[in-house]
Amino acid sequence: MTQNFEIAVFEGDGIGPEITAPTVEILKKLAAQSGGYTLSFTDAPAGAAHYAKTGESLPKTSLDAARAADAILLSAMGLPDVRYPDGTEISPQIELRKILDLFAGVRPVTVRAGQMGPLTLPEGRDIDFVLIRESTEGLFYSQGAGEVTEDEARETLRITRKTSEKLFKFAFNLAQNRKDQGRSKGEVTCVDKANVFRAFAFFRALFDAEAKKHPELTANHAYVDATALWMVQKPWDFDVMVTENMFGDILSDLGAGLMGGLGLAPSADIGEDHAVFQPCHGSAPDIAGQGLANPFAMILSAAMMLDWLGTTHNNAALLADGKRLREAVEGIVSSGTGLTRDLGGSAGTADAAKSVEAALFTPASTAAAS
Ligand code: ATP
Repeated sequence: MTQNFEIAVFEGDGIGPEITAPTVEILKKLAAQSGGYTLSFTDAPAGAAHYAKTGESLPKTSLDAARAADAILLSAMGLPDVRYPDGTEISPQIELRKILDLFAGVRPVTVRAGQMGPLTLPEGRDIDFVLIRESTEGLFYSQGAGEVTEDEARETLRITRKTSEKLFKFAFNLAQNRKDQGRSKGEVTCVDKANVFRAFAFFRALFDAEAKKHPELTANHAYVDATALWMVQKPWDFDVMVTENMFGDILSDLGAGLMGGLGLAPSADIGEDHAVFQPCHGSAPDIAGQGLANPFAMILSAAMMLDWLGTTHNNAALLADGKRLREAVEGIVSSGTGLTRDLGGSAGTADAAKSVEAALFTPASTAAAS
C-alpha cells in the first residue's frame, strides 16, 4: 500500500509565504508523479505576524499539528518590529526545537563545479559535507540565565551524556547513509576544544565510545579553531562533522558563506521523534512582498525532508525524489543561469521555482529520472 505522510507547514513571516507556496507545489507534483508515496499538507499558522494579529506566536493547534505530523516544513519566522512585551524577538522555531527535543541541527554544505562562490575548487573536487550542530545544550544552555554583576558575567556550558550519545549515534548513522548512497567516504569528525576544556574532553570521550560501534566508518577529531581554517583551505576533505551548539552556530555560517550565501543554505533540526526542515536564512523583511526572494534554500530543505522521510520509513521512492530535487537545484546553480539577485542573477522567486520545475518535469528530465 502507498504510504502517506502528513506534513505540517509553517509558512511564517516576511518572505516565508512566498518561498513556501512554490516549494509545496513542487512537492505535490513530485508525489503525484512518483506513485511511491503520497503527501498531505496541514497549514500551521505561527510567527510574528500571527502574534501581532492574535496575541499568540505558536497557537496550540499549530503545535498539535507539528506533533502529529510525520515531518515539519518551516520557512522563517520573526519580524524586527514585532516583539514580546519584554523586547525579545518572536521565534517559535526556537521554541519548537526545545519542545520537540530536536537535538541535531543538520547543515549540509555543497558546492558543485561551476557554482559561483568565494573559493575556486581544484579540478574534479566538489564540496559536500554536513555539519551537525548540537542544538539543545552546550553554551546555549544558559541562554537568558547568565549571571551578570557589576564586575563579572558568567554563562555555563552544559554537555550531557544523554544528549551527546544520541547526537553521536545520529552523526555516525548519517555518515553510514551517505556512504551507502555513494556520496562520501564515511568519515565523522568530532569538532571540539578538548585540549583546553574538560567539558570537551568529556564530549570527545563519548564520541570515541560511539565510534567504536562503527568500525566500518572512520572517526577523527579536530579542534574548532583549526576546523575554521580547514573549512576555508580544504573544505572538500570533510564528510560529516559534529560539534557543540555555539561552535556549530559559528561554523554553520562559515559553511553558508562557502556556498555563496544564505539563499542556498538548507537545514534540518532533527530529534528522535520529530524533525523540522527550514532554510538557514531569516524572514528577510527588507525584500518581502516583492517576489525577489531566492526559494532554493527552502526547496533544498524540502529535499532533505524527503530524504529523511525516505530513510526513516525505508521508502525508496522518497529517497529517489529527495536526491532528484536536490540535484535539480544544484544543476541550476552550477549552470549559473536563472539565478536570483542574491546570487548575482535577475530571476524572481517565481522564475527560479519554475526553473526547478522545468529541470524536474520536462520530458527529458522525466525520462532520465525513470
Ligand atoms: P534572522 O536573525 O531571523 O536569521 P537576519 O536578520 O539575520 O534574520 P535574514 O532575514 O536571513 O537575516 O536576512 C539577511 C539578509 O539576507 C537580508 O538582506 C535578506 O534580504 C537576505 N536574504 C535572506 N534570505 C534570502 C533569500 N531567500 N533570498 C534573497 N535574499 C535573502
